[in-house]
Amino acid sequence: MSSIASNLFLDAASGEKLLGAYLIICSRPLVARRFIDAFLMRLCCKKGGCGACVDCRKVLEGHVDILRLTAPKIAELRDALAFVAEQPYEAPRKVVVIEGADNMPVQAANSLLKTLEEPPPGTVFILSARSVCGVLPTIASRCAIVPLMPGPNAPRTIAKALSVDDATARILADLSGGFPDEARRIKDDADLLARRAEVITLCQKLLRQNNMAISVFADFLENNKEHIILLLCIMQSYLRDILVFMKTRDAGFVANVDYLDDICDAANRFTSGAISNMINVILDTERRFLSPVNFRLTAERMLFCLLEEKNRCQK
Ligand SMILES: [Zn+2]
Repeated sequence: MSSIASNLFLDAASGEKLLGAYLIICSRPLVARRFIDAFLMRLCCKKGGCGACVDCRKVLEGHVDILRLTAPKIAELRDALAFVAEQPYEAPRKVVVIEGADNMPVQAANSLLKTLEEPPPGTVFILSARSVCGVLPTIASRCAIVPLMPGPNAPRTIAKALSVDDATARILADLSGGFPDEARRIKDDADLLARRAEVITLCQKLLRQNNMAISVFADFLENNKEHIILLLCIMQSYLRDILVFMKTRDAGFVANVDYLDDICDAANRFTSGAISNMINVILDTERRFLSPVNFRLTAERMLFCLLEEKNRCQK
C-alpha cells in the first residue's frame, strides 16, 4: 500500500509538514486503523515509531492526547472540540481520530466543517472512510485525502511476497483486502484462520440446513465480538463468491477457493436476488455495529433476516 500519498502522510508525522486534517480512504477499516496507528506512533515516539516503547504502547492502549471516535454524533464532536482546545500533555500534537467518517450523521459532519477548515494550532484530525463517496464533499474538500489501495494483481504479488501457492494467495488477498503486509500478518494468525473456517462453516449450515438454530451462530459471533467486522467481511466474501460463480461459472473469480464445491452447490440452489439481499443485510449490520448497539440483538436480527431471504428465494 505504499503510494506517494500514504508515504507523505507517514513522513509528515515525523517532520514539519504536518497538515491539520487528513482523510484516509480504505476499503478495509482494520487496515486503515493499523495505518493510522503507525502514523500516531511516529508522531508520539521519540525513536520514530519503534512499536515497543512506552509512547508507542500508549498509542495502542490509550493516549492522553489522542481521542478516538467512530461515526460520532454531534455531542461527541462537541467534546472533541473541547479536547483540542487544551494543550497536549505528552505528544507534540492533540489528535482526533474519526473512523467511519462515511457514517457520520449529516448534522454532526456539518458541525465539524469550521474546525476542519482551520484546525486549532497544534492539532491534527484524521478521518477514515471506506470510500470517498460516503463522505460529505464539504468534509472531503477540507482534508488531505490519503487513498490506501492495494496494487493491481494483489494475489500474484502476495503469492510472490509470501511464497505461497495461488489458492492460498487468493484467500489471503481477499482477507487482507489485497495488502501484502496485512496478508503476511493474517498468514501467521492461526486464530484468525480458525475463526474464518468456523464462520464459513456456520454460513454453509445456514444456507443448507432447514432448521438451523440461530443461537449457535449468534453464540459464535458474540464470543468473537471484538472480531465482528472481519467476520462480517468473511461472510460477505463467501456470499459474493456464490453470486460471482452463479453469474460467471468461472472458478477463477472465486476468492474462497478452499470452499469451491460448496460455493458451486449453493450457486445452483439460490437465486441471485436472494444472495444479493443477504449481502445487503450483512452490510447494513456492519453499519449498525459502528455505533454502540445491543450486540446480541443486532447479530440475531441479522441472522433472522438472512434466514428469511434464504427461505423466500430458494430455487
Ligand atoms: Zn516507540
